Amino acid sequence: MTELLIAALAGLLLGHLLDLAFVRFYTSEDLATPLHHCPACRSPFRARFASPLTGYVMSLGRCPDCRAGLPVRSVILPLGGAALFTTSVAVFDNFGPGIVGGVFATVFLTLTLTDFERRLLPNRIVYPSIVLAIALSWVWPHVSVPEVLAGGLAGLALGVSLLIVSLPFGKGAFGIGDVKMIALIGFVVGPASLLVGVFVGSVVGGLIAATLIVARLKSRRDYMPHGPYLALGAVIALFWGPELWDIYTG
Ligand SMILES: [Zn+2]
Repeated sequence: MTELLIAALAGLLLGHLLDLAFVRFYTSEDLATPLHHCPACRSPFRARFASPLTGYVMSLGRCPDCRAGLPVRSVILPLGGAALFTTSVAVFDNFGPGIVGGVFATVFLTLTLTDFERRLLPNRIVYPSIVLAIALSWVWPHVSVPEVLAGGLAGLALGVSLLIVSLPFGKGAFGIGDVKMIALIGFVVGPASLLVGVFVGSVVGGLIAATLIVARLKSRRDYMPHGPYLALGAVIALFWGPELWDIYTG
């Protein structure tokens, strides 16, 4: 019980930090520039936004200076981080791997948000995460270090293949960012769970895209981000990959 509580607090903290740094992930802005809480008026940072979650709630989701709506991610990232860390520790039933799993699940949540908000899977998140995944490759109970490295290389190969196959469908069908993200997933979960994750992500993404097209909410030519579905598949693979792989292989 104490472990779950610590995990929730760790996830809340990481979600907050990622939200505070969020805008710097996809601009060339220096990481050390002053923080501002409102993307609309870029008014100076106020003390209450030191915690983006309580800042958002206390301001009722609006900037106190210009009344523009504040980004909902300030709520999603801290609460999502807390939920993912808690789930991770519960699923791994082991505090160390559980916390590391929570970190990567929260990274995937962050990539979902950057892809929805800016259609980007920023290098500033993906590259350090790959380095971290390799550095922590010894932590996982079900995946060995060689498997993690093989998973990353398999992810790279799979991503490049998907990129080549998607070329006839035009720009935006599948991007370099998606390739890097699949490599990252491989470096986190290993080759077997990577396939589980990409499969789950493709099925869910395909179903949602088909539904949107049938409902005429989107056309075939509209941009459809892959990142959020890959991220969903990655989190499922991270938490339940070995079990799903066992079911698949009988
Ligand atoms: Zn404002």
